[in-house]
Amino acid sequence: MPTGPAFRGPRSLLRQIREAMAGGGPVQSRLDMAVRIIAQSMVAEVCSLYLRRASGDLELFATEGLSASAVHVTKLKPGEGLVGEIVRLGRPLNLSDAPNHPAFAYRPETGEDPYHAFLGVPLLRGGRTIGVLVVQNRTERNYGDDEVEDLQIIAMVLAEMVAGGELVGQGPLKDVEIAPHKPEWLKGVQFADGLAFGTAVLHEAPVAPEQLLSDDAAAEGVRLAKAIGDLQGQIDKMMDGQHGLVGASFEVLETYRMFAHDRGWNRSLDEAVRSGLTAEAAVERVRSEHRARLGQARDPYLRERLHDLEDLNDRLLRHLSADGAAVDRQLPDDAILIARNLGPADILEYDRHKLKGILLEEGSTGSHAGIVARALEIPCVGRLVGLRDRVSQGDPVIVDAESGEAYLRPRPDVVGAIQARMAVRAQRRAEFARLRDTPAFTRDGAKITLLMNAGLAVDLDILGETGAEGIGLFRTEFQFMVAEELPRFNAQTQLYSHVLDAADGLPVTFRTLDLGGDKILPYLEAEREDNPALGWRAIRMGLDRPALLRLQLRALIAATNGRELRVMFPLVASVDEFRAARALVDHEVAWAERRGRPAPSELRVGAMIEAPSLIWHLDALLPMTDFVSIGTNDLMQYMFAADRGNPRVASRYDPLSPPVLRALQTIQEACQETGTPVSVCGEMAGRPLEAFVLIALGYDHLSMPPGGIGPVKRMVLSCDREAARRGVAALLKGSAGSVRSEVETLARKLSVVI
Ligand code: PEP
Ligand code: MG
Repeated sequence: MPTGPAFRGPRSLLRQIREAMAGGGPVQSRLDMAVRIIAQSMVAEVCSLYLRRASGDLELFATEGLSASAVHVTKLKPGEGLVGEIVRLGRPLNLSDAPNHPAFAYRPETGEDPYHAFLGVPLLRGGRTIGVLVVQNRTERNYGDDEVEDLQIIAMVLAEMVAGGELVGQGPLKDVEIAPHKPEWLKGVQFADGLAFGTAVLHEAPVAPEQLLSDDAAAEGVRLAKAIGDLQGQIDKMMDGQHGLVGASFEVLETYRMFAHDRGWNRSLDEAVRSGLTAEAAVERVRSEHRARLGQARDPYLRERLHDLEDLNDRLLRHLSADGAAVDRQLPDDAILIARNLGPADILEYDRHKLKGILLEEGSTGSHAGIVARALEIPCVGRLVGLRDRVSQGDPVIVDAESGEAYLRPRPDVVGAIQARMAVRAQRRAEFARLRDTPAFTRDGAKITLLMNAGLAVDLDILGETGAEGIGLFRTEFQFMVAEELPRFNAQTQLYSHVLDAADGLPVTFRTLDLGGDKILPYLEAEREDNPALGWRAIRMGLDRPALLRLQLRALIAATNGRELRVMFPLVASVDEFRAARALVDHEVAWAERRGRPAPSELRVGAMIEAPSLIWHLDALLPMTDFVSIGTNDLMQYMFAADRGNPRVASRYDPLSPPVLRALQTIQEACQETGTPVSVCGEMAGRPLEAFVLIALGYDHLSMPPGGIGPVKRMVLSCDREAARRGVAALLKGSAGSVRSEVETLARKLSVVI
């Protein structure tokens, strides 16, 4: 690299900076000394240090080369000037002619106009930019890659000195924002209902390396090389174990492998170590840089890849740790987990009893985190933009998943209010618990069967607590979604028999794999589709790849082991699909019998009504089915052509509207005529007001998330079905888009507890 400055391998420089910062004297003169040393060694005419104030402003704290009178005078708002641009981007800015850059903001007090070459790097601490370090030269030139690297390493040490040492809080550093400390409020989206108040635990906790500088760069290089070698070996081994799976390409592992062998990554680490950092500090530096960049990438695909890269840094740190053991995830008793997103099995790795809430920067209701959090009844709010930048390990935080909000470092009055609401919830829970063994009869004597939706083994733990009369929908794809690899026959059989055992004679309706759409498996090759919700998913996939579906049916039959088997197919859109699917079941039962294995004592095969097309072909469908179940989540999505996972449109249309009520009425009447058992298993069945309407329409089997059973039962007990039927019948003819307020009025008039 022909960049030339005397400075290569900043080991001695880093020591000089450390000594300057650790030495006696006022803090200001130590900072002045540090920038002077950096300017000299980088052969730069200017070196300036900007730090972030609690107000968010970036203030010039020390400079060599610019006018000394500008120190503590020049302040840039977030996003202002080149320094603000670096904070925004979270990465270096290397310019040969800075005044020509559109973001350049001229500050006369600094006297910086004669300087053209500009290199600025962020001071990163735990993924957060706490300041910016800049060098400038008069001539127009680009700084070389080595110089950029060097300045980043210097910035890392400086960040550590400013934020981690005893300097913090002293003199001019008193009001520097190392971590946000004011109360803040963020608005997101509810993923799992509930309230929690506790202590922030960062899922991707920044590991503060105990030692930043190594005593022996060569030995450190060997240690790093060994750890990288071990890591590569581990990933290659993981990949080898994955061969032979049904057309899988293992994109995630493939990406890991690609990164682990990536020369750029390896080189960055290597250079950092050669410059005098410990291997851990080198990993932390590279990782900090990724993390800062991560928040900036717009393309979700790219962000996902950068996330993988960050995971890789974690793994490497584990390899570097003394015993190579997994990082122990110790939790305080009131942990609120903070993460960008959580992948398969992540939540399950934490102690369930200590994990009180989850806050995520991204994700969607249907993401793994949402599914598992709901199953474990852990309040979870997602899509909190800027979350990880605003919260530090140990901060007190509130998860208000009732309204999809988070309070960071809340004021005492907010804590008081949330605790009062938590007490009310606890009281209500106790009330529902008392109703557990009360059968759900309406006031006029109609029996309503309340069932629970489930999808994971842990769900069965609460079946007894809820008082549900069975599992009306067991979503078998959850096992696939939380697994690291495709569950094989034995794993499937084991889960299904565990579910049947735990249900202890109560009916369980298994739904075959509903993959595709928003339910994507990281280890299965999936083509990117323009309209995944309308694409190759659920039964379509099952019929096109019968091996996967047949294996599942075989596992279900084996798990049933002579008991009753109830199985239904998702997203059936035509009777032909149902006919073909049913034939596969018959085929598998015959196969089991031929081998002398016990056939199900009773076999009931049903279809989910989720595609509107079926509503006009019920006369053909119902005679072929043993039962049907209405998946209102998807049915709404397809009726209104509104993506259920897209918050912009998902809540735009109301299920309590004449078109939906009429469709539901049509289905109910057809089922009644043919004597076909029918249930509703979408989320609306678990909401008292909606359930009130379903009962009025004649439905008497409702399957819902566990949390819905208590409130719905309380509603049922207070409801006169005949009066409800008459009231709702009038609303079906309404001309408004929504009849919600009319339903509310009706319920109030009939003294129904909603
Ligand atoms: C539905 O669509 O209403 C349903 C119950 O299935 P899922 O939510 O799993 O798609
Ligand atoms: Mg569905």
